[in-house]
Amino acid sequence: MEDAEFDVIIIGGGVMGSSTAYDAAKRGLKTLLLEQFDFLHHRGSSHGESRTIRLTYPQHYYYPLVMDSYALWQQAQAQVGYQVYFQAHHLDMGPAHHPEMLAVLDYCRTHNIPFQLLNPDQVAHKFSGPIHIPHDWLALYNPYGGVIKPTKAVAMFQTLALRNGAVLRDNAEVVSIDKNKEAASGMVVGTAAGERFRGKKCVVTAGAWAGKLVKAVSGVEVPIQPLETHACYWRVKEGQEGKLAMGSGFPTFSSFGDVYVYGTPTLEFPGLIKVAVHGGKPCDPDKRPWGPGFMMDALKTWVEERFPGMVDSSEPVIKQCCMYSMTPDEDFLIDFLGGHFGNDVVVGAGFSGHGFKMAPAIARILVDLALHGETKWAHIKHFSIARFKITSRF
Ligand SMILES: Cc1cc2nc3c(=O)[nH]c(=O)nc-3n(C[C@H](O)[C@H](O)[C@H](O)COP(=O)(O)OP(=O)(O)OC[C@H]3O[C@@H](n4cnc5c(N)ncnc54)[C@H](O)[C@@H]3O)c2cc1C
Repeated sequence: MEDAEFDVIIIGGGVMGSSTAYDAAKRGLKTLLLEQFDFLHHRGSSHGESRTIRLTYPQHYYYPLVMDSYALWQQAQAQVGYQVYFQAHHLDMGPAHHPEMLAVLDYCRTHNIPFQLLNPDQVAHKFSGPIHIPHDWLALYNPYGGVIKPTKAVAMFQTLALRNGAVLRDNAEVVSIDKNKEAASGMVVGTAAGERFRGKKCVVTAGAWAGKLVKAVSGVEVPIQPLETHACYWRVKEGQEGKLAMGSGFPTFSSFGDVYVYGTPTLEFPGLIKVAVHGGKPCDPDKRPWGPGFMMDALKTWVEERFPGMVDSSEPVIKQCCMYSMTPDEDFLIDFLGGHFGNDVVVGAGFSGHGFKMAPAIARILVDLALHGETKWAHIKHFSIARFKITSRF
């Protein structure tokens, strides 16, 4: 395999790298995906049982990415023959004058998303299980929510990439990316085990390790901060379980305010509901603290106040540890690495705890950039590397 030259070498086998490998292979590109650990490991950002997909965002530029992703998720699961996406409605809630609530309202109006604006009394009676919000909050209900099964989705993309001819290698930690000095163009990617792979282009989707890898290969420092966070599952009280379950009409939800809380209806663990805090504690991805959780007291209070009598808020019964790769503005980094690599190395990173839902659309952008040097169907100026004050040794 070391003799072969690939059209594209993708570094990192989480959801971004695996969906990119599928997209590239589907387009007929000779594709190699390299992952430092076992495939489907639990040390990054893409493992677990559920991710929310919602259309509503305070920033308008996410609309086309999520909208396209709904279709792309359905196409991919139709290809593989099993379900990774589960349809649900979505509820945004928060203080009536919270800037992000107002921005989401404006977003729905601008993009003609059908929505209902609900007061606290309506929220308490709308769903199979009541949600109690304070008297000065409001909620926005729309049909574009849903749940994606993350580990299963990553496996799906890897299966589809293989079926389309991609080569997939795990336990292959990339330690170097260099211009191919023996040819007029192209790259040589080296692993810790001393293997060398030649590729015309390279896509870096290294998640929480992206900052380290980019710095090691180019000297460029991108401000991507790994955070340790937890998906928390809470026990629904006896007799109430069905009321918060997927399929009962209960929505996925996001809650703005002092703490940003999100959750999904009961699906993966019968009798448990996922409610978690967006955010986490800064960490080194190679020296994880595997800590007790982030803002747990605020989260307990949120669960107690929103679901009184419905959910046991004393402790989550399952906590799944995971990492975010946070940028300062929580927008993604999707761009060429530049410097002496020019357009040959594309970076897709900094997904800041909200990228999973858009993985198939992001894959399409990354492959467009690698293949054509541009993407025609999405605006990515908000995701540029130039918005950071970066330093490079070149
Ligand atoms: C608890 C939690 C809840 C979330 N909830 C949502 C949600 O509801 N909705 C949503 O849209 N998003 C959500 N997200 C965010 C989403 O999961 C991430 O944005 C997404 O998984 C990032 O994928 P990735 O491929 O960039 O990173 P990863 O999954 O971490 O993949 C990067 C891969 O690169 C590999 N790698 C790194 N360095 C190297 C190297 N040198 N050589 C080879 N391989 C390397 C790593 O081992 C890793 O497998 C959540 C994240 C967490 C942690």
